[in-house]
Amino acid sequence: MTRSALDTSLGLLAGVGPAKADLLREQFGLETLEDLLRFYPFRHVDRSRLNTVADIAEEGTEIQLLLRLEPVVEKRGTKGKRMVTQGRDASGTVELIWFKGAQWIERQLKNGGRYLIFGKPQRFGTSWSIAHPEFEPVPEGYAPKLPGWQPVYHSGEKLQNRGLGSNGIARLVAKALDLCEADLPEFLPEEWLLRFGWPHRARALRDLHFPPDAQALRKATDRIKFEELLLLQIHILQQKHLHKDAVPGWPLPEVGTHFHRFYSEKLPFELTEAQKRVVREIRSDTRTGMHMNRLVQGDVGSGKTVVALMAMLLAWDNGHQSCLMAPTEILAQQHHRSLSELLDGTGLECGLLTGSVKNADRKPIEQALSDGTLPIVVGTHALLEDRVQFRSLGLAVIDEQHRFGVEQRARLWAKNHPPPHILVMTATPIPRTLAMTVHGDLDLSVIDELPPGRKPVHTVHYRESKRLQVWGFLRDQLRQGRQAFVIFPLIEESETLDYKDLMSGFESLLIEFPRPEFEIALVHGRQKPEEKDEFMRRFADGVCQILVATTVVEVGVNVPNATVMIIENAERFGLAQLHQLRGRVGRGAEQSHCILMTGDKLSKESLVRLETMVSTNDGFKIAEVDLQLRGPGDLLGTQQSGLMELKLASLSEDAELVQLARRAAEHLLSEDPTLSEPRRAPLRAMVEKRYARTKVWGRIG
Ligand code: ADP
Ligand code: MG
Repeated sequence: MTRSALDTSLGLLAGVGPAKADLLREQFGLETLEDLLRFYPFRHVDRSRLNTVADIAEEGTEIQLLLRLEPVVEKRGTKGKRMVTQGRDASGTVELIWFKGAQWIERQLKNGGRYLIFGKPQRFGTSWSIAHPEFEPVPEGYAPKLPGWQPVYHSGEKLQNRGLGSNGIARLVAKALDLCEADLPEFLPEEWLLRFGWPHRARALRDLHFPPDAQALRKATDRIKFEELLLLQIHILQQKHLHKDAVPGWPLPEVGTHFHRFYSEKLPFELTEAQKRVVREIRSDTRTGMHMNRLVQGDVGSGKTVVALMAMLLAWDNGHQSCLMAPTEILAQQHHRSLSELLDGTGLECGLLTGSVKNADRKPIEQALSDGTLPIVVGTHALLEDRVQFRSLGLAVIDEQHRFGVEQRARLWAKNHPPPHILVMTATPIPRTLAMTVHGDLDLSVIDELPPGRKPVHTVHYRESKRLQVWGFLRDQLRQGRQAFVIFPLIEESETLDYKDLMSGFESLLIEFPRPEFEIALVHGRQKPEEKDEFMRRFADGVCQILVATTVVEVGVNVPNATVMIIENAERFGLAQLHQLRGRVGRGAEQSHCILMTGDKLSKESLVRLETMVSTNDGFKIAEVDLQLRGPGDLLGTQQSGLMELKLASLSEDAELVQLARRAAEHLLSEDPTLSEPRRAPLRAMVEKRYARTKVWGRIG
């Protein structure tokens, strides 16, 4: 591509020396004129209209007035710290106040002069006042020149000190726009612009910073959001195709005896339709020598484990081993236990490798993995160590992948040539379009159905005043032979306080539910692993009726007899976490209950979270709300996936544009997969340029 003004470094822009250029880079990562043009204002103020004093109706709404100033009426404080004057127009007067810089302001203002005043009025008894208004003198006999719609940019003290407050940045942007005007070729098809009434690119960029009116701003915003999303989707889809072409996978053509025997003789239940569909998807990925990179999303309890096992049996039928990697010791043990149970009687074994497995026990497992006699191993990060070698690792299943970094997955990948098929399982479902974007080149499977007979967990939100009732209810359930969790939050920053909460909660439970009738187990992160496991086991075996714990149980235990989940300080948990916790109950035949206990004072956001939990058990709905509350920033892969290139568009707020961009990208690439038609050259150049800096991330599932 020929060099364009867009690539000019900011330091070369008139008025920006090296020092300012450094600051802009440090503070906002701006290096080139293009970066500056994409440094969008976070809002605009409408200074296109002139109001009168009589128009002022509410506090806090910005207003623009043409006023004649009266003499300063009040100066108070030492060194004239505060200054008050009156301004009037034909309809009335307002007070103008300065608390800072009063002396300087006083020198600027002329008694009896005319000024264009802009600021937020506040009610002051029966009159209005404006603190620290912006002002501009208006010569006698002239109409005021209204600034129109004005952009407001993020700035900061350092930049302000160098004349780069919001207005200073606006002046730079205006210059950059003039210089780059000719270097902003259109790359969207003309017919799309017509269909949506969107402006051309150069116009859109200008209007986004300096719109003539609200409508132009809206159109420009939509267009730029769309183009960001389109470029992202094209990038992602191309990466995915690239991956498919470049990476061979183990062909798993055989559906052999292990798979068949398990399916027809061993499987203790009928698979749900959703489970069957996912097994078919896995089967079709792996049949032909393509490399599988698949994400299975399924709500808590939807039965992902058995799907993973069937994929592992498929691998073994074709002579390959599998591993299942879990983020925590407890979860790995749990998987190991459930896989071993499922495999019982099949003659197949499943090993366990975690940090706490003793060397003497590791040796034979590692040996069996390297000589190829052990078909399946479950473990934690311990699996990644170099000493763990496989004869032929055909499939790696990764549970709860958001806790694993890309690098760790790369190490799994490197354990074999060609790399193992990758099956990622997550119980934190996110909406489909978002998943396709965030998880990039992963193909997506969804288990959107729970095994039959599950009763939705009944959920309520109570405040402290209902405490006695809650204990009464709990006692009732325990006397019917059920078990319960009582969960306390644990946030690293306030760990010490949280432990105090946990311990005092535990002590009041001991009093409320005394021995010998009740046994209570306590589990938290400060215990030794053996101690923790021992208590977990006592709860799982039904020796203890209540398990008091911090969030360590979040992804852990499966205790079908537990029917009550009490979450203390529920307002402090995120939605995904609450949903995971609730998923610990409702696993058996009895009706289960989730009780969210909170204090009296709740933020609006906490209330939304609690109400969502009470109103639905559907993990996907919960994920949607979560996404709207938090944005996708916390999700896996945000860094790698090029989402950082979204400056204006938001995956959660602009759902419709995301859909539109996805469809448009699919359509374009189906016609012209490499965008090599001459008319697509500008689009192709845009994609390449924007994602040149994004590292190749599409290799690891
Ligand atoms: P998750 O998706 O949360 O990992 P699991 O795989 O742990 O769910 O399954 C939860 C429970 O449901 C397990 O006890 C499992 O045996 C059972 N289960 C899985 N699939 C079915 C099915 N199709 N019918 C009945 N029970 C099932
Ligand atoms: Mg699971």
